[in-house]
Amino acid sequence: MGSQEVSTVDWQGKHVTVAGLGVSGIPAARALHERGALVTVVNDGDDERARAQAAELEALGITVRLGDGATLPPSTELVVTAPGWQPDKPLFLAAAEAGVPVWGDVELAWRLRGDNGKKAAPWLAVTGTNGKTTTVRMLASILEAAGLRTAAVGNIGVSLLDAVLGDTEYDVLAVELSSYQLHWAPSLRAHSAAVLNLAPDHLDWHGSMEAYAADKGRVYEGNTVACVYNVADPATEDLVRQADVEEGCRAIGFTLGAPGPSQLGVVDGILVDRAFVANRQKQAQELAEVSDVDPPAPHNIANALAAAALARAFGVEPAAVRDGLRAFRPDAHRIEHVADIGEVAYVDDSKATNTHATEASLAAYDSIVWIAGGLAKGATFDELVIGAAKRLRGVVLMGADRALIHEALTRHAPEVPVVDLDRTDTGAMSEAVARAAELARPGDTVLLAPACASMDMFTNYNKRGEAFADAVRARADESA
Ligand code: ADP
Repeated sequence: MGSQEVSTVDWQGKHVTVAGLGVSGIPAARALHERGALVTVVNDGDDERARAQAAELEALGITVRLGDGATLPPSTELVVTAPGWQPDKPLFLAAAEAGVPVWGDVELAWRLRGDNGKKAAPWLAVTGTNGKTTTVRMLASILEAAGLRTAAVGNIGVSLLDAVLGDTEYDVLAVELSSYQLHWAPSLRAHSAAVLNLAPDHLDWHGSMEAYAADKGRVYEGNTVACVYNVADPATEDLVRQADVEEGCRAIGFTLGAPGPSQLGVVDGILVDRAFVANRQKQAQELAEVSDVDPPAPHNIANALAAAALARAFGVEPAAVRDGLRAFRPDAHRIEHVADIGEVAYVDDSKATNTHATEASLAAYDSIVWIAGGLAKGATFDELVIGAAKRLRGVVLMGADRALIHEALTRHAPEVPVVDLDRTDTGAMSEAVARAAELARPGDTVLLAPACASMDMFTNYNKRGEAFADAVRARADESA
């Protein structure tokens, strides 16, 4: 079967077990039930919310088993799981033993696309440790600028199943995929795909770095036009080499340097394409200027090049790449410029929840007062500090695991002044901003890039970023 053809499954009377009542489980159960499958939903939890959701599904004729997500119902022919469920759960071990396939929400959406008579739009897929959401939104912006009917979907928070089964017709989808989703998507075949970068993350779930990389690499399987990799991150190119792709599919690199043949890169402040041009040995096509990208930080130029590569693989003209990048605005808390006070810039990158992301944002500024700390999730900070030491004016640390960062600073940047905030109350962020302001000199950037998760002090990274922005704005108002 050609990779982009639609497969059809006869769902009538098929026994399907849906693992997990939740954002992906409920629509999956409904969609399968509507197609005649005999659906049983199993769920670990048995709280009030789960009971209310169960009652709604049961009213439709779907069986729901609360309080036991571990046992495989005996007649199961297929398991459809929420992506976050860990692969070593007893349910999956039982399924493997019984020879029962397990699909995630992405696999289900891939299999169901086109079965409602709607055109099955091709998928342009993006994965990687950091930059996925930004790149997918840039890509959707470019595709829109080209006049294509598209949407940014998947791990970005928009259900693929809804996009595939809803009434809206699409020409192409810009799809963000997490490593979990890829793990459970064995037959997914994207038109083209990009792996932006690979750094250790979620290793507790995948079991090892090798298993994590292998799941990310699944995104290249069966690509028809382009496998887009990061020249600066050879692990991503290795994944392309290992992938089994369709005849004629090309490996396309992106680089912040001058591009070689079959690459996109940067020359004199211009994003250029030496891949999708008539004569790539001699020719390069101008796509956009670095200043068209918001913010024009190095890692974000890399994201823009990856998005441009996927769009060009889909046949988008250079002018639409430029227009789409110009129209793109970053989501909140991702290197967001909050205010200038005096001659100091205040930047919120609360979304930098791991060291790899923080490394990228610290690389974007010359002289930084760095606000960091929170839950380290097992990370170490030596490399991060070594890389940034020369650009640190000072550091303000807060949160549960701040001592780990402090120790790395003592080891590798002993001359950098560090303020260690021993408080976790609601005023802590205001004090952090005040102390950072004391350390900053004209021309500096005060950068919140915590390298840690936020849940020790905040509900999530959004709330952490808002607390920072509120504190900065209050200072700006005072000094106005
Ligand atoms: P994801 O969806 O993969 O979590 P986002 O686009 O939401 O990625 O960006 C998350 C954070 O990662 C940003 O706040 C920024 O600090 C960092 N980041 C973004 N792009 C990159 C990149 N290409 N390389 C490294 N870090 C990046």
